[in-house]
Amino acid sequence: MYGTLEETEDRFSETSDDDERNLFYVALTRAKREAVITLAERGADGREQLPSQFLGELRPELTVREDAEIYEKSFEAQKGIAFAAPEATVPLLEDKEFLNRLFLDHGLSVSALNNYLSCPWKYFFTNLIRIPEAANKYAMFGSAIHDALKNYFMRFLEGEKKDAAYLVRRFRESLYRQPIDEKDFEEMFLKGAKALEGYYAAHAEAWGINKFSVEWGIDGIFLNDRIKINGRLDKVELLDDAPHVKVIDYKTGKPKSRNEIEGKTKASDGNYKRQLVFYHLLLNKFEGGKYKMTSGEISFVEPDERGKYHSEVFEITPEEISALQDQVLAVSDEILNLSFWDKRCDDPKCEYCDLRQKMRS
Ligand code: SF4
Repeated sequence: MYGTLEETEDRFSETSDDDERNLFYVALTRAKREAVITLAERGADGREQLPSQFLGELRPELTVREDAEIYEKSFEAQKGIAFAAPEATVPLLEDKEFLNRLFLDHGLSVSALNNYLSCPWKYFFTNLIRIPEAANKYAMFGSAIHDALKNYFMRFLEGEKKDAAYLVRRFRESLYRQPIDEKDFEEMFLKGAKALEGYYAAHAEAWGINKFSVEWGIDGIFLNDRIKINGRLDKVELLDDAPHVKVIDYKTGKPKSRNEIEGKTKASDGNYKRQLVFYHLLLNKFEGGKYKMTSGEISFVEPDERGKYHSEVFEITPEEISALQDQVLAVSDEILNLSFWDKRCDDPKCEYCDLRQKMRS
């Protein structure tokens, strides 16, 4: 069904101009008084670049063409200042007060909690001090799938019911923006396009039956006077018996069984189920318990090897919520006391202890 990248591009090129024209229009209409459009004559590879076709569609009486030389000279003169290294004002990493402040400012998300439970140093580097890490192609794939679904549902909320091709187009655009090489792009695009078309066919009929919200960010929910949690929920559906809601979380990758999701198999970590319970905790405390989360759904966007799409729905018990709250508070305590400071293990493939070695102990 899917051909080469070129064929796929042709397949979607007819309509993608409209969307790009819309984006161009939206960008221009954000300006209060004037919009400045700049373009480079040559790309990073030295090849000449053509201006966007949409520039030619602007009414001539509304545009003024300016010579960029004056800006280029002023940029050249100030380049040294603009790109100078910032003065070192960062406190020493092991400064407990500094780390405590970071933790209390950020709060704890469920991915940070899951990282901490897998290894405190993973949490320390990725979530607390946030060292930049290169995303792998699967992470970029997952993020482009989430982006496509978010875009699709936002349009839906604006009253436009788009088709599967729209979903695939949004996915392609998002993947295209990722720092991914051509070969991986082609592989990931074909995989994602096929998955999204099947996912649409399996689920679209039910979309819109309930009112919903997408990418709902909930920040600063305090569990006590210091510890706060936060999260971003992929989709929240308002059920018939409002204010009851169902939270849906999209997952890429091979679908997992119920037992794997719940961490009941030997190799599973229970991260997905913990995520749903965490969302329950967030929603319970959001605006004085305005919404009641009755269930959480893990929805797999990729099919199993037989082409079947899976979703698993869980009802969260009060005991699970209370146990998770205790766990969050215990972990927070460990982070604030830096009680993991001397933790090491002998995993030869793990790079975080190497990084830890490079720090002053
Ligand atoms: S090697 Fe170090 S950082 Fe990696 S899992 Fe073990 S303790 Fe954690």
